[in-house]
Amino acid sequence: MVERLAKIKSAGAAAGQIAGRMLFPPTCLGCRKIVAEGGTLCASCWGDIHFLDEPWCAVSGVPFAYDMGTGAISPAVMASPPAYDRSRAAVAYDGAARRLAQSLKYQDRTDLAPWLAGWMVRAGRDIIDHAELLVPVPLHRQRFFTRRFNQSAELARAIARQTGRPFAAEVVMRVKKTRQQVGLKAKERQDNVRAAFLVPEGKKALIAGRHVCIVDDVYTTGATVSALAKCLRRAGAREISVLTFARVLPGDFRRGKPEPI
Ligand SMILES: [Zn+2]
Repeated sequence: MVERLAKIKSAGAAAGQIAGRMLFPPTCLGCRKIVAEGGTLCASCWGDIHFLDEPWCAVSGVPFAYDMGTGAISPAVMASPPAYDRSRAAVAYDGAARRLAQSLKYQDRTDLAPWLAGWMVRAGRDIIDHAELLVPVPLHRQRFFTRRFNQSAELARAIARQTGRPFAAEVVMRVKKTRQQVGLKAKERQDNVRAAFLVPEGKKALIAGRHVCIVDDVYTTGATVSALAKCLRRAGAREISVLTFARVLPGDFRRGKPEPI
């Protein structure tokens, strides 16, 4: 009897699942086309994503065309060392990856965060192994109020859940209400975010001597994360890494081309 009941129950659950799939069929994360399994991309979106991997510059994480050996540093980094120690991005900011980043940011697709975070953990494994704090790029209070959520915090929180690394959004504030970086040139972006961030006096002890990992959705010129890195360095951070979902690769950032981020 118990067995029969269990069988009926499981048949009922299976029927429920099938009905659920008919009502809410799993869709591609990138384009919402129907796919066999939830939480995946369709073949055309997969083919459209450029995952970043080694060989890459040990500092910037920008892929090399040829393997230059472990620890090799790109000429761009040697000419102009960044304010942080290293950066990594999961994918190039293009095609389906660009659509995913925009959906998370502008269409409240917070359901995407765990998937994008998983790719970030993979690309940033050498950072995550040693990072002591995950710090999302903060939004100004007013912008947070109108947008209601911070896409960088969603990603950092998902990474924290997947890796057990501490999520620490409260250690730094955005005190200057900056213009949106959309459409600004590299130099304008730097000026725009100068002195934008502040570590409250009471939070400095949390940062001092620590390896802090800054989390953001898209790395464009690096102006925002550089300003934040300088602020964290002044507060005593020992090491600063940057982990983003996507990165605009050199040559992709063309002036005059409308930049949606
Ligand atoms: Zn798709």
